[in-house]
Amino acid sequence: MTGLSDEELERYARHIVLPQVGGVGQRKLKASSVAIVGAGGIGSAAIPALAGAGVGRLTIIDDDVVDLTNLQRQPIFRADQVGQSKADLAAGFVRSLNAHVEVAPVSARLTADNAEALLLSHDLVIDGCDNFATRLVVGDTLTRLKIPLVSAAAVQFQGQMGLFRGWEAEKPCYRCFVGDAFDADDCDTCAEQGVLGALTATVGSFAALMAIRAIVGIGEDVAGSLFLFDGVTLDWRKIRLPKDPNCKTCGGVNAAG
Ligand SMILES: [Zn+2]
Repeated sequence: MTGLSDEELERYARHIVLPQVGGVGQRKLKASSVAIVGAGGIGSAAIPALAGAGVGRLTIIDDDVVDLTNLQRQPIFRADQVGQSKADLAAGFVRSLNAHVEVAPVSARLTADNAEALLLSHDLVIDGCDNFATRLVVGDTLTRLKIPLVSAAAVQFQGQMGLFRGWEAEKPCYRCFVGDAFDADDCDTCAEQGVLGALTATVGSFAALMAIRAIVGIGEDVAGSLFLFDGVTLDWRKIRLPKDPNCKTCGGVNAAG
């Protein structure tokens, strides 16, 4: 595994001193490759956390440009960047934060046609995008590719985060969780319902924490559990998701193997 330079040893000193991370864990982060789908409110928290943590390679996928209404919850963008590519700007943010991170911006919409090519060869994917159709494509593709998914969503004051490895026995995939009703490309976006910026930041940071735990191997494996956060009551809940034996992605006759 790749070694760490003197500059990196100093940069990551507060990680390396942690017994759960250490030099070994930091080198695992450096050797890892993570894709982030969506440079929105969740991505705006997850991307700096992963770049700062020294994840070796980040791919940032978003086909959108910065809009004035984004700035309330997407602090990696600035008011003078309205109209510019979010993927490109997020990549610029990563480069200025940590030159040790190799970053690839993808200013394209993730679809069933390009999902496999875009997500292949990553160790983990964080999905923080704004619609169910894309989320299902990401979930199905990653189950097929056997790549762990951290799915994170935020609406109004509600956050939900889960780690999925649906190709494993007993472990649900993302489709086991949400079902087939959301394949249509017309579902919720936070434009209609609103979302608190500090809530998306909480969810995005939690997603980054889940990713780092999984990459380094910290704590118990939480694949198949869903974490729910309520920003009004400030309650956290953890529920176990069942695998759907009839799931068309991971179960029954169409099992991913
Ligand atoms: Zn499934």
